[in-house]
Amino acid sequence: MSSSLTCLLHKKESNLGYTFSEKSLSRLEGVDTGLVEVMKEALSLSKIDFGIPPYGGVRSLAEQQKLYATGKSKADGILRESRHQKGKAVDVYAYVDGKASWEPEHLTHIATAVLQSANKLHLPVKWGGLWKNFVDMPHFERVK
Ligand SMILES: [Zn+2]
Repeated sequence: MSSSLTCLLHKKESNLGYTFSEKSLSRLEGVDTGLVEVMKEALSLSKIDFGIPPYGGVRSLAEQQKLYATGKSKADGILRESRHQKGKAVDVYAYVDGKASWEPEHLTHIATAVLQSANKLHLPVKWGGLWKNFVDMPHFERVK
Protein backbone atom coordinates (compact mmCIF):
# COMPACT_ATOMS: atom_id res chain seq x y z
CA MET A 1 0.00 0.00 0.00
CA SER A 2 2.68 2.45 0.98
CA SER A 3 4.78 1.89 -2.14
CA SER A 4 1.91 2.62 -4.51
CA LEU A 5 0.98 5.68 -2.49
CA THR A 6 4.55 6.94 -2.65
CA CYS A 7 4.54 6.34 -6.37
CA LEU A 8 1.36 8.38 -6.79
CA LEU A 9 2.77 11.22 -4.73
CA HIS A 10 5.94 11.31 -6.78
CA LYS A 11 3.96 11.33 -9.96
CA LYS A 12 1.87 14.23 -8.71
CA GLU A 13 4.92 16.13 -7.57
CA SER A 14 6.66 15.83 -10.92
CA ASN A 15 3.71 17.59 -12.55
CA LEU A 16 4.08 20.55 -10.23
CA GLY A 17 6.62 23.28 -10.09
CA TYR A 18 5.19 26.65 -11.02
CA THR A 19 7.31 29.45 -12.43
CA PHE A 20 6.74 33.22 -12.42
CA SER A 21 5.11 34.93 -15.38
CA GLU A 22 6.99 37.67 -17.24
CA LYS A 23 4.81 40.22 -15.47
CA SER A 24 5.63 38.88 -12.03
CA LEU A 25 9.33 38.73 -12.91
CA SER A 26 9.28 42.36 -14.04
CA ARG A 27 7.72 43.29 -10.67
CA LEU A 28 10.62 41.54 -8.91
CA GLU A 29 13.21 43.70 -10.68
CA GLY A 30 15.49 45.45 -8.21
CA VAL A 31 14.44 43.23 -5.30
CA ASP A 32 17.20 41.69 -3.16
CA THR A 33 18.55 38.79 -5.24
CA GLY A 34 18.47 36.39 -2.28
CA LEU A 35 14.82 37.17 -1.65
CA VAL A 36 14.01 36.63 -5.34
CA GLU A 37 15.72 33.23 -5.19
CA VAL A 38 13.67 32.31 -2.12
CA MET A 39 10.45 33.28 -3.90
CA LYS A 40 11.34 31.34 -7.07
CA GLU A 41 12.20 28.26 -5.04
CA ALA A 42 9.00 28.67 -3.01
CA LEU A 43 6.92 28.84 -6.17
CA SER A 44 8.51 25.67 -7.47
CA LEU A 45 7.67 23.93 -4.15
CA SER A 46 4.18 25.35 -3.70
CA LYS A 47 1.10 23.41 -4.70
CA ILE A 48 -0.69 26.74 -5.10
CA ASP A 49 0.40 29.05 -7.90
CA PHE A 50 1.19 32.65 -6.95
CA GLY A 51 2.29 35.90 -8.51
CA ILE A 52 3.52 39.37 -7.66
CA PRO A 53 0.91 42.17 -7.73
CA PRO A 54 1.56 45.80 -8.76
CA TYR A 55 3.81 47.46 -6.10
CA GLY A 56 4.62 43.99 -4.75
CA GLY A 57 8.34 44.51 -5.26
CA VAL A 58 10.43 47.68 -5.02
CA ARG A 59 8.47 50.88 -4.34
CA SER A 60 9.46 54.48 -4.92
CA LEU A 61 8.69 57.01 -2.17
CA ALA A 62 5.75 58.32 -4.23
CA GLU A 63 4.31 54.82 -4.62
CA GLN A 64 4.72 54.14 -0.91
CA GLN A 65 2.99 57.40 -0.02
CA LYS A 66 0.12 56.56 -2.33
CA LEU A 67 -0.36 53.16 -0.65
CA TYR A 68 -0.20 54.81 2.78
CA ALA A 69 -2.77 57.44 1.78
CA THR A 70 -5.21 54.74 0.66
CA GLY A 71 -4.71 52.67 3.83
CA LYS A 72 -2.99 49.81 2.02
CA SER A 73 0.23 50.23 3.98
CA LYS A 74 1.04 51.33 7.52
CA ALA A 75 4.35 52.87 6.48
CA ASP A 76 4.19 56.53 5.36
CA GLY A 77 7.50 56.22 3.51
CA ILE A 78 9.42 58.88 5.45
CA LEU A 79 8.89 58.64 9.21
CA ARG A 80 8.33 54.97 8.76
CA GLU A 81 9.96 53.39 5.75
CA SER A 82 8.62 50.25 4.16
CA ARG A 83 11.04 47.41 3.50
CA HIS A 84 9.69 47.57 -0.04
CA GLN A 85 11.48 50.91 -0.52
CA LYS A 86 14.80 49.12 0.11
CA GLY A 87 13.97 46.18 -2.14
CA LYS A 88 13.92 43.87 0.89
CA ALA A 89 10.24 42.86 0.75
CA VAL A 90 7.87 41.12 -1.63
CA ASP A 91 4.09 40.80 -1.68
CA VAL A 92 2.29 37.91 -3.35
CA TYR A 93 -1.23 36.90 -4.33
CA ALA A 94 -2.44 33.36 -4.78
CA TYR A 95 -3.63 32.29 -8.20
CA VAL A 96 -6.42 29.74 -7.85
CA ASP A 97 -9.01 28.54 -10.36
CA GLY A 98 -7.87 31.10 -12.89
CA LYS A 99 -8.11 34.14 -10.65
CA ALA A 100 -6.27 36.05 -7.94
CA SER A 101 -6.99 35.05 -4.35
CA TRP A 102 -6.06 36.55 -0.98
CA GLU A 103 -7.80 33.80 0.99
CA PRO A 104 -5.91 33.23 4.26
CA GLU A 105 -5.89 29.49 3.57
CA HIS A 106 -4.14 30.00 0.22
CA LEU A 107 -1.68 32.57 1.54
CA THR A 108 -0.84 30.34 4.50
CA HIS A 109 -0.01 27.48 2.16
CA ILE A 110 2.25 29.80 0.15
CA ALA A 111 3.89 31.03 3.36
CA THR A 112 4.86 27.49 4.34
CA ALA A 113 6.54 27.10 0.95
CA VAL A 114 8.35 30.44 1.31
CA LEU A 115 9.57 29.67 4.82
CA GLN A 116 10.66 26.18 3.77
CA SER A 117 12.52 27.63 0.81
CA ALA A 118 14.15 30.33 2.98
CA ASN A 119 15.32 27.65 5.36
CA LYS A 120 16.67 25.52 2.51
CA LEU A 121 18.59 28.46 1.02
CA HIS A 122 19.75 29.73 4.44
CA LEU A 123 18.23 33.15 3.80
CA PRO A 124 16.03 34.11 6.76
CA VAL A 125 12.69 35.58 5.73
CA LYS A 126 9.86 36.94 7.88
CA TRP A 127 6.20 36.49 7.01
CA GLY A 128 3.76 39.36 7.64
CA GLY A 129 1.07 36.80 8.47
CA LEU A 130 2.72 36.25 11.84
CA TRP A 131 2.81 39.90 12.85
CA LYS A 132 0.88 40.85 15.95
CA ASN A 133 -0.60 44.27 15.20
CA PHE A 134 -1.06 44.57 11.45
CA VAL A 135 -1.38 41.08 10.00
CA ASP A 136 -0.05 41.31 6.45
CA MET A 137 -0.49 37.86 4.94
CA PRO A 138 0.73 38.63 1.40
CA HIS A 139 4.02 40.14 2.70
CA PHE A 140 7.47 38.56 3.03
CA GLU A 141 10.73 40.31 3.87
CA ARG A 142 14.40 39.58 4.33
CA VAL A 143 15.61 39.56 7.89
CA LYS A 144 18.22 42.33 8.17
ZN1 LIG B 1 4.52 44.12 1.63
